Amino acid sequence: MLILRNIKKIYHTNKKDYIALENININFREKEFVAILGPSGSGKTTLLNIIGGIDKYTSGTTIIDGISTNIFGYKQWDYYRNNYIGFIFQDYKLFNNLSVYKNVELPLIISGVKNRRNKIIKIIRQVGLYDCVNKKIGELSGGQKQRVVVARALVNNPKIILADEPTASLDNKNSIIIMDLIKKVSKNKLVILVTHNKFLAKKYSNRIIYIKVGKIIRDTNPLYNIYSKQKFKTNKTKINYLTVLYLCVNNIRSKKLRTFLTVFASSISIISISLILSLSNGFSSRAKQFEKESFQSFPILITQSIKRTSIKHNKSNKYLYKSNNNNEHINNINNNYINYISKINKSYIDAILYNRINNFNIIVKTNRYKKIRSYELSFFELPITTNKSFITKNYKLLSGRYPTNKNEVVIVVNQNNDIDKKILELFDISNKKIKIEKIINKEMKILSNDDFNNEDTNNLYNNKNNITIKIVGVLKDNISLNDTSKIGYLNELTNEVVKKNKDSKIIKNNNLLASNMTKKQLMTYLNHDSIPTAISIYPSSFKNKNKVLRYLDNYNDHNKEKIIYSDYGKEVGNYLNKIIKFITIILTSFSSISLILTSLMIGIITYMSILEKANEIQILKSIGTSNRDIIKIFKTELLITGTLSGLSAILVTKIIIIPINIILHNVIGINKLANLTINDSIVLITISIMMALIGGYTSCVKAVKRKITIS
Ligand code: ADP
Ligand code: MG
Repeated sequence: MLILRNIKKIYHTNKKDYIALENININFREKEFVAILGPSGSGKTTLLNIIGGIDKYTSGTTIIDGISTNIFGYKQWDYYRNNYIGFIFQDYKLFNNLSVYKNVELPLIISGVKNRRNKIIKIIRQVGLYDCVNKKIGELSGGQKQRVVVARALVNNPKIILADEPTASLDNKNSIIIMDLIKKVSKNKLVILVTHNKFLAKKYSNRIIYIKVGKIIRDTNPLYNIYSKQKFKTNKTKINYLTVLYLCVNNIRSKKLRTFLTVFASSISIISISLILSLSNGFSSRAKQFEKESFQSFPILITQSIKRTSIKHNKSNKYLYKSNNNNEHINNINNNYINYISKINKSYIDAILYNRINNFNIIVKTNRYKKIRSYELSFFELPITTNKSFITKNYKLLSGRYPTNKNEVVIVVNQNNDIDKKILELFDISNKKIKIEKIINKEMKILSNDDFNNEDTNNLYNNKNNITIKIVGVLKDNISLNDTSKIGYLNELTNEVVKKNKDSKIIKNNNLLASNMTKKQLMTYLNHDSIPTAISIYPSSFKNKNKVLRYLDNYNDHNKEKIIYSDYGKEVGNYLNKIIKFITIILTSFSSISLILTSLMIGIITYMSILEKANEIQILKSIGTSNRDIIKIFKTELLITGTLSGLSAILVTKIIIIPINIILHNVIGINKLANLTINDSIVLITISIMMALIGGYTSCVKAVKRKITIS
């Protein structure tokens, strides 16, 4: 059945070639107990491994059931190992974290046997381990372990049992028990026992082959007539994917700590890159928002007079060039223009703020009457908004509510909650510190121009023609850096006051004179109209800003009198953009570098963890698992661990981000800066899987291939 012909084995070491076996010729009977006896280092293990197909001879051939193994491919070798050979190793080679049952089950799974249970229980009973069937290998004694190995070797009912010093790690008593067992369970098989123990060889075998320095020196019972009843024929042994998954989960579960450490190590690098990514994400979205905020504090500004920034020209430095009017340009803001502005597409803008010099004549009643002009109290018209949040964002409500009609006004204080003492004095409040609520609901009345100089204050105060205004809230100013408080009112009030005063006597009187105002400004001051001195337009986005500018340019294209606006936000924005781009590039290159390092790291980690698996690979091979199936098993394992490490890294990052954000919030005052997007998470998990597969796959293939050529 089994013939060795001129077997020669040379180990190629880096010093010199070493001949481990030479000129080995043996014919084995179908049923016999052969002992190969020789001193340590004589080549016994090498010979056994060659017979078992887990090591390859250098020259010569083995003939199995009439077929030379020289023509064997991987498939035939796998089939041979799985169906012809049962290995009993000196050092057990069991999966320590699997149960007795599962270890014995493995060869049956590999050869695709369906009803395994009865076979397994039967053989475990035979080796006397029925009581330990569910115990893990790690919990067994040496003698018990070796019995499991015997059971595993026999469960598939192989034709040949190869035992390599099976009792070397056992005491005398257990050695006898194991040898008796092997003898008993393999009566009808070819048993080849390798040993250096003469006593064992003589006691159990009926043929002893003496070997010394790689050569046979004596055979006590050689076989000369060779014939072969059977022909070697392979049956495809391919395990299905469910079995692969089963083996794989078994494998992972049997090494919880190592799996955990591998997953942990590779997730650390994923965590570091996902943290960088989430910071850089947060930064760039924050930068965009900052960009928006900063251009809100630089609205498009239209003033009555403007200094034009000199246009660069290519004129010579040798000459001086006459300029006009100090480059000052007078913008004629008239009703026509105001009308044009009011028709801007509402979606382009968040708000328009009109600076007006309209003066309101105020009268207040406490225990006496007080008259005051509104400009002394810094009255101002609140911006007209199309986006309501513009007000709530820029004027934070401290108490009360926002004004809703022409009769409601608000106190607007600065960042320190300072309030102008003139306002307090108006209501006879002299405290240095007052409760905000105290100022709410205070009333004032606006007198018409013609009534203001009337001395009969009692009558004046109760005049039905007055407009009553009430303080309904206190706001904190977030846009301008004014150092006094102001009183804000709605555009409706301006319109109402102008309606009441545009025909007043004092305006009709043409002899108006004012020292520091033009006549036009004075008319506005007296509420003949509400032409603003300046207009600030707040676009709703960066993109819409350009649309607004085009709209304003369009006015100039159709009017002789040009209105020149200024756009400070543009210059500031340009600088800002440059800085943001710079930081983004740095963060991105950080991310890319750590991405590469992470990939390498995971690759190396899995490479190492697979190298360590060489032992497992050898067991799987010795029981006939094909290379392809071994690779499949480890690939699945890598897939699972890669996914696990990716997922856990994302989870850990999400958790780490929480305190990081709290710290960042406290240190630089920006809320929720770090943010890991779903897209990034998916990419990172994919990288984790890919890298585990690449790193693991190369080393796995290497380990698998190595075991079949060199031992
Ligand atoms: P035995 O089992 O009889 O003790 P081995 O078959 O293990 O002997 O080894 C025979 C000889 O081959 C020894 O000298 C050993 O050093 C050498 N040898 C075994 N395996 C290798 C290997 N993979 N590479 C190089 N030399 C080896
Ligand atoms: Mg040996």
